[in-house]
Amino acid sequence: MELTNTLTMKKEAFAPHEPGKVKMYTCGPTVYHFAHIGNLRSYLMEDVLEKFLRYEGYEVDRVMNITDVGHLSSDADTGEDKMLKGAKREHKTVMEIAQFYTDAFFSDCEKLNIRKPDTVVPATSRIEDFIEMVGKLLEKGYAYQAGGNVYFDTSKLEKYYVFGNQNSEDLAVGVRDSVDADDNKRNKTDFVLWFTKSKFDDQELKWESPWGLGYPGWHIECSAISVRELGEYLDIHCGGIDNAFPHHTNEIAQSEAYLGHPWCKYWFHVLHLVDAGGKMSKSRGEFLTVSLLEEKGYDPLVYRFFCLQSHYRKPLTFSFDTLDNAAQAYQKLVSRIAALSKDGEPDLESAQPFREKFSQALGNDLNTSLGITVLYDLLKSNLSDATKRWLIADFDQVLSLNLLEAADKSAPQAPALSDEETAEIEALLQKRAEARKNKDWPAADAIRDELAARHVVMKDTPNGVEWHIEK
Ligand code: AMP
Ligand code: ZN
Repeated sequence: MELTNTLTMKKEAFAPHEPGKVKMYTCGPTVYHFAHIGNLRSYLMEDVLEKFLRYEGYEVDRVMNITDVGHLSSDADTGEDKMLKGAKREHKTVMEIAQFYTDAFFSDCEKLNIRKPDTVVPATSRIEDFIEMVGKLLEKGYAYQAGGNVYFDTSKLEKYYVFGNQNSEDLAVGVRDSVDADDNKRNKTDFVLWFTKSKFDDQELKWESPWGLGYPGWHIECSAISVRELGEYLDIHCGGIDNAFPHHTNEIAQSEAYLGHPWCKYWFHVLHLVDAGGKMSKSRGEFLTVSLLEEKGYDPLVYRFFCLQSHYRKPLTFSFDTLDNAAQAYQKLVSRIAALSKDGEPDLESAQPFREKFSQALGNDLNTSLGITVLYDLLKSNLSDATKRWLIADFDQVLSLNLLEAADKSAPQAPALSDEETAEIEALLQKRAEARKNKDWPAADAIRDELAARHVVMKDTPNGVEWHIEK
């Protein structure tokens, strides 16, 4: 399998540290508000990656954090904690907000068939680990205390900018982010590991630490949770592209300084969902959620289908027109599948070339739209219906579009018969069999016509006549 690795900005052959086993970490949501469908694009494509790895036979251990403290309004170290902002907005406590939006997030994920990671860790449950990591960074000389906070000293690193696409332009962006320059920082790229002094004194959640009562910076949580749960060597770290800098850059700085060796092999970043106004974000007032799509009558899986039709390394433009196109295409696909007969056994040998094509498509940097083309190709092929259905179920382990379920639901149902009607049909069939035995062809034909008028479909089998009502 090949994946684009943001570390090198190249497509690279994927080889985990331990053959057959993948350790995968995902930056989870900041639970101060609903996830918008842009956030969910990232989680959806990460879900496809995880499922494809499993499809290919890897054992995947996946961990996600829940950011319920420390993520400030700006991705740099300025502004109010997003959680506190959410709590104030809704006149609730931070923990109430966290619980509500964590549940809302996983409910959205369920609607989009995004599998919940094996391990989900709220940041506030690991404060001791963060304190331990910050302590070790101080001990090793990678951190310093100033003005009541603990900072990471980026000048102590051989290389701070690790991602291939980062240059001094990015640095400018990072600095522009910090509206108020922090005079405590020795270098402008330094970042906070532990806060005790913030302009916002009403921070609700604070913990005792060797550096005073305070709270962790956002970046430390992902490093500490990942190292604790997945060990010193990580295979894949995922997130939306906006997380590459400063969040992931800082995670690498901390983790490698702490561990003393390279940490994560592959950085999987999903590009943004944009709309006519630009990048979708929660700060832009009204934003699109899964519930809003449902209110407008869309099946959430249509949004999944929409996302799978484009490549994760390209920005995706959202509009209701393009979503409508996806809805129509999904419905058509489901109808074609509904027309397949459920009878017979699949021929696994003739299925194999399609399975290989699907695997090649997804294995080529997760080309999901090509994977869907293979699905259309197999529907057009001369494979038996049973084999087609078998392959659709197989591909859907990765695509998770509920294709067979939706088809079976949309297939017209035979009308239910009362016991009395069933008995009448059985009696007619019996009479027809007797007429045929007596070679009374006119009587047999008359009964056949009557059965046809009642929409009875008959099939002669070695065990007698099988019948059902036409759909
Ligand atoms: P947050 O809840 O703000 O921490 O973001 C959750 C995830 O969504 C992160 O991985 C972000 O990088 C990602 N993300 C944010 N905005 C977008 C967007 N417009 N399109 C795709 N992913 C996004
Ligand atoms: Zn993170």
